[in-house]
Amino acid sequence: MALVEPMNGLPQPDRLRALGIVALNGMFDEKDAAGVLAQGFELLRSDLAIVSSFGADSVVLLHLVAEIDRQVPVLFLDTGKHFAQTLEFVEIVKLKLGLKHVRALQPSAADVARFDPTGNLWESDPDSCCHVRKTEPLNGALKSFGGWVTGRRRYQTSDRGVLPHFELTADDRIKINPLSYWTFDDIVAYKRAHDLPEHPLVAEGYRSIGCAPCTSVVAEGEDPRAGRWRGLNKAECGIHFDFNSKIAAHKTDNDLDEADHKLFKGGRFVGDPWRRWAEGDDPATVRFTHVPLAVWQAHAKALVANPHPLGLMLGPDDPVEQIGADLERFLSIGIQFPAFTDGRGYTLARLIRERYSYSGELRAVGDILVDQVVFFRRCGFDALVIDDRATRAALAAGGLAEFSVYMQPVGERLEVPAGTRPFLRRPTGEENSQGAKRD
Ligand code: SF4
Repeated sequence: MALVEPMNGLPQPDRLRALGIVALNGMFDEKDAAGVLAQGFELLRSDLAIVSSFGADSVVLLHLVAEIDRQVPVLFLDTGKHFAQTLEFVEIVKLKLGLKHVRALQPSAADVARFDPTGNLWESDPDSCCHVRKTEPLNGALKSFGGWVTGRRRYQTSDRGVLPHFELTADDRIKINPLSYWTFDDIVAYKRAHDLPEHPLVAEGYRSIGCAPCTSVVAEGEDPRAGRWRGLNKAECGIHFDFNSKIAAHKTDNDLDEADHKLFKGGRFVGDPWRRWAEGDDPATVRFTHVPLAVWQAHAKALVANPHPLGLMLGPDDPVEQIGADLERFLSIGIQFPAFTDGRGYTLARLIRERYSYSGELRAVGDILVDQVVFFRRCGFDALVIDDRATRAALAAGGLAEFSVYMQPVGERLEVPAGTRPFLRRPTGEENSQGAKRD
């Protein structure tokens, strides 16, 4: 394929080819999915693949494809994280439509061992998880094809609101979206008219179905894809980033964008799976959300019944004693630091760790300076959400201040405090002559 000189580091598609795409987009009626698809087959013949998630509505596109050619390769991203019902649905659809070449694309075992050895990468860095489990396997498979077909529709998200029938990708492939103008009612009517099988999870309230950890039920009136990566700042898995002029890539320590990575944990900045409670959130369905103490107390019944991971957000003066016994049910507890001069959160952290033996993530949130990081750690924090850009830059550059002598000891640690009367002091945690423990 003809490529002109690279611009901004990316090869630019041939202009004539781009103009051809514009012309193609003008050729078809908005709802003429069969015509768009037939044109794709005509243009690309054996150079065409279908990419399907075998999700809630995938069967519509696959039926349209099967009407033209049952031999065409259908690529299914078998991420290793699908619902069992999705894997069953693949077999049901294959049988019903007579598709001959459904290929399951699995992630590289070496990549999974390297980047996701515990299988929990989706929690801390879903972009990288999708990159390892979806983008990389698909990119490898697409090398054999000049174009591919997707089942995306405009109504699914606002980002997809201007999706055309034909796209030219940054790697000069043609991407075809025959259903781009279809409405949800069109999809339902087509399924009914052709007696197509329904994904088993649709009956349970799922409207868009991807990997099990990142998919939840959608409420009435919600965006159909609202159940995907709920609570995370993520709407696409990365295989379609071309359309939004973004290129998917695995994020390394060096190219993490500090603007959207404020969470410092385990010695590095990482993507944050948690979000803050927002007005209008439903206590029964929120997930990966830090719920303020007042909200927890007002909606305790619904939140206790909520099956998703939840966190607690505390202000520096919040009476944590009121829910001390409940703390272990939170996967993460955040304590707000409105100003770097405000030390109340340190006391709260020690209370949570020492009196209530809380063992989950404890994060300091707010105005944090680099010199304070070590003190946060001593008080039991194991994660920091840092507003201050200079602090983030210093930590990213490895500028973590360390101190070996402390004027004020913390509990549970055998630190020898420095001071004016060292002969009266002994390591904390050691019993004094009266048998009582010192603080
Ligand atoms: S959807 Fe979730 S589990 Fe699946 S690849 Fe993406 S982040 Fe990982």
